Amino acid sequence: MRIGIVGCAGRMGRMLVKETLATPGAELAGGIERAGSPAVGIDLGVLAEGTMVGVVATDSAADLFAVSDVVIDFSTPGATVAHAALAAKSDTALVIGTTGMGPADLAVLHAAAAEVPIVFSPNMSVGVTLLTALTERVAAILGEDYDIEIVEMHHRHKVDAPSGTALGLGRAAAAGRGISLEAMSTRVRDGHTGPRVPGSIGFATLRGGDVVGDHSVIFAAEGERVELTHKASSRAVFAKGAVRAALWCEGRPAGLWTMRDVLGL
Ligand code: NAP
Repeated sequence: MRIGIVGCAGRMGRMLVKETLATPGAELAGGIERAGSPAVGIDLGVLAEGTMVGVVATDSAADLFAVSDVVIDFSTPGATVAHAALAAKSDTALVIGTTGMGPADLAVLHAAAAEVPIVFSPNMSVGVTLLTALTERVAAILGEDYDIEIVEMHHRHKVDAPSGTALGLGRAAAAGRGISLEAMSTRVRDGHTGPRVPGSIGFATLRGGDVVGDHSVIFAAEGERVELTHKASSRAVFAKGAVRAALWCEGRPAGLWTMRDVLGL
């Protein structure tokens, strides 16, 4: 599979280049950065690990989609939405790791996914995908007297909150309970909040240092607590999952898929 990387000079982009180069069956087709980026014209191998591979970063998304079987995009919502439309137009599969998408962005992804396979997951790690499946199961088993709280911590550079993964865990918990997360979530608490809303799903966000990504789902009842926790210590786990998803796209029908589909969970 020829794999193209969006944001190839970014923190995840460089990991994705490295992982693509190291994965049997994956071939690095190219990489793009924004027009005017100092990375444009630089060899992707040099950007990722200091060794030349003979493929340079460009600023042409259209060219990247033309030479790729699948493109992996970990960038920004605005860029990813434009790339989803391009994927549909060029009949190229797309793997999206970008977080912070709003309802209008998601509508564009759904439209593009009618034409090509798109794997979209706010967290591409195998461990978090398993945590998500377990959260849905535990929420279904434990009744409403177990309050659900989701706690996440990320590095100081992260710009969106709660994390896309925390929201994904919230959706899984809501699905297990048969409720709508949008109607039943408490995103922040401050000041005199009154007692906890029964049946709601609460979120707490911590930011600091270089934390790659910690997520806990807490089921708290009177007398006991069940906690499911995942801690990522290297961004490589997200790149590994994304390249696995890219290879999985081969021969896959159009549709909006998730890492749970990729792992068969
Ligand atoms: P980053 O270091 O800022 O990398 C993003 C890269 O994309 C930057 O180099 C950026 O360039 C580039 N970019 C932005 N717009 C572009 C465009 N139109 N064309 C080409 N390149 C463009 O950020 P990151 O830490 O890698 O994270 C990127 C995204 O992935 C975030 O949404 C993050 O939350 C998400 N993420 C997801 C997972 C997952 O498993 N799903 C894991 C980790 C991170 P500029 O610097 O010039 O803007």
